[in-house]
This record gives sequence, structure tokens and C-alpha cells, in this order.
Amino acid sequence: MEIINQVKERLSIFKNLYDVIRIVDPLKKQTTILKDNEIQQLKGTCYALWRKDTFCENCISMRAYLNNDTFVKLEYDQEKIVLITATPVEIEGKIYIMEILKDITKNGSALHKLTENSYCVEEMISSINEKVVKDELTGLYNRRYINERLPADVKNSKLSNIPLSVIMADIDFFKNINDKYGHVIGDKILTDFSNLILNSIRNNSDWVGRFGGEEFIIVLNGTESKNAYLVAEKIRKLVEDKVFTYEDIEINITASFGVYSVKDNNISISDVLLNVDRNLYKAKASGRNRTIIDEGTCEERLEGIKQKSIKLVELNRHINEIRELLNEACCMTATEESINDRLLISQYLDELIVQYMKDLNNLN
Ligand code: GH3
Ligand code: MG
Ligand code: MG
Repeated sequence: MEIINQVKERLSIFKNLYDVIRIVDPLKKQTTILKDNEIQQLKGTCYALWRKDTFCENCISMRAYLNNDTFVKLEYDQEKIVLITATPVEIEGKIYIMEILKDITKNGSALHKLTENSYCVEEMISSINEKVVKDELTGLYNRRYINERLPADVKNSKLSNIPLSVIMADIDFFKNINDKYGHVIGDKILTDFSNLILNSIRNNSDWVGRFGGEEFIIVLNGTESKNAYLVAEKIRKLVEDKVFTYEDIEINITASFGVYSVKDNNISISDVLLNVDRNLYKAKASGRNRTIIDEGTCEERLEGIKQKSIKLVELNRHINEIRELLNEACCMTATEESINDRLLISQYLDELIVQYMKDLNNLN
């Protein structure tokens, strides 16, 4: 409330520039609005203003926040064309986004003519907003959308205490496909692969983006790790079984999947991507065409490593003790009894060393 009061004061000279001013928290999607010089605290989300039940695809508040710059877009709502300008403002040391909303249905002269066919305008505006966040080849969300949406999903998962899982998928040996069949076929496979993923996820809470090249990110809101693993496995098997057919060419492909479920609510986006990428890398390194799921939180993994380290130190101590015994035995006269002892000790030492190496491998 205090924030919007400050903004109201600062903006009083620009009162013809806007119909509504909103102060948006782009991560939490919360807003306070100033309309007809009245301040209103909105209960719902920022996207509720547009009668949407989920985040706007082309969220310029998030873009303004991440780029520390001003962005504009059009929205169409109830036969009105609204121009929105989103700009970062610093209030009491914290960055908010100020959204300036202006109804330009009458004043936007170029658009005015189009309003005679309101359906056409609505289509046009929604298509512009979509193009900004979609990948041209596959029609999936692009990297910009991933960067702007994922932080809001992680925040939402924290605020609403709902699980969030992320899957990273990468087509195996895709370079060979391009080399063998050419880029046109390669592109068709990328599109069909994308549609296969799209058809395998829920369309209200899940979404998929093209992370780059032949790499895709699937975000499952409200899904725990076990179910995310099952989703990844379902897609993996569908890909494995599908024959990608283009005229008389039939191609089989496989893909590898890394899964990571957010457990630490304060995790950064780069760490989410790092974790899911690490699991994808493991899937590749262990033979491809498989799904690897995360192994607990950082803390759990650190605890696991600590326990193993303690075991290794103990093991090493035993080995050294026995090595000393063996040295002593070597110094003794070679009686039949001592030879047997030495053989036994040597055997035991070998077993311990094998165990030591195994534990060392597991640790890495
Ligand atoms: P890996 O199993 O390790 O993932 O092997 P890979 O060959 O799939 O991986 P690599 O990263 O070596 O090659 C990825 C290939 O994807 C190389 C690049 O030519 C191809 N690629 C990336 N973007 C596109 C695209 O838009 N269209 C086509 N046809 N190919 C693409
Ligand atoms: Mg690949
Ligand atoms: Mg790749």
C-alpha cells in the first residue's frame, strides 16, 4: 500500500498517460493497483486481470525484472486493446515492476480500423504474444520463456508448498541422424519428438520448452520425483517404440532423460538446471536411452558422502594395520605356519583393497 502511494505521488503529473498503474511482484505474481486515483489491493494474481487462469505466456514484468529494462506489449480483453508498459522501479531498496496500462482501442489509430473485426484483433494480439515465446521449428516454448517461467514456478512451488519436478531430455546420437538423413529429416524428427512430448504431459500444469538444439526441458508443476521419473520413462519408451516415418524412410531413435525434483525451496534456477543436467549427463554416460533421477538433496548427498568417507578411513586404517603385520611376518623365519599366516593375511589384504576400490568408485 505504502509503495503504491509513493508511486501515485510520483506519477500525478502523468495522469493522462495511464488508465491503471499496477505494482507487480513478478515472481509471486501479486499486484497492487491504482485506478481512477484509488488504490486497490488485488487478492488474485496479476494474470487474473486478463481473466487467465495461469501465467501470461508473454510476461513482460518478468522480462523487465530479469533484464532491468522497459518492455511493452498489447493484450486484448473484452473488446479492448490495452497497451502495457512494464518498467522496473526501486522502492525502499527492493525492485518491483510498475505496469502502466492504457486502453488504446480508440487512440491507437492503426489498430482502430482493425477493431471493426474484433476477432481478428484478438487473434493478431495473441499470435504476437505467442511468437515472442515460442520456438519457430517445434512450436514449443523457447529459451526466453524457460528463463522467465521457471523462476516463477520455483517461487510458486515454495509459496504454495507444492512439489516441482524438471526433466531434461536429449535425443541420442542426433548428429548421426543429421549426417545420415540430412537436416530436413532431422528437423522433422525434432518436430515429431516435440509433439510426442506435448501429447504425454498434462496441458494445464505441465509445460515443455526447447532448451536448445535437440535438448528439451519438461516442467511438471505439482509432481513429485517418483511420478516425474514415471513420466520420463513413459516418454522414453514411446520414443524408443516409435518409428519416425517420412515417405519411404523409417527411422528409430532413442533419447536420454535426467530428472530433478526441487527439494530445497531456496534453490537458484541455475542450480536446478545444473542438477537436472548432471542427471542427464549420467544417463548419457551410463549408456543412453535411460532415465536418471536425482539422488536426494545436496545435504542428503553430502551426508551420504560423509558416511562413506568415514567407512573408507576405517578401511584404510585396517589395511595399514594388516600391512604392518605382514611386514612383521615377513621378517620372521619361514616356518610352515608363518607361510600359511602370510598367505591368509595377503588374501585378506587383497579383499580389503578390492572393497576399498569399490567404495571409492561409489563415492565418485
Ligand atoms: P548425444 O547422444 O551425446 O546427445 O549425441 P548427439 O549427436 O545427439 O549430440 P551432439 O551435441 O554431438 O549433436 C547434436 C546435434 O544436433 C548437432 C546438431 O547438428 C543437431 N541440431 C541442433 N539443432 C538442430 C536443428 O534445429 N535441426 C537439426 N536438423 N539438427 C539440429
Ligand atoms: Mg543428443
Ligand atoms: Mg545435446
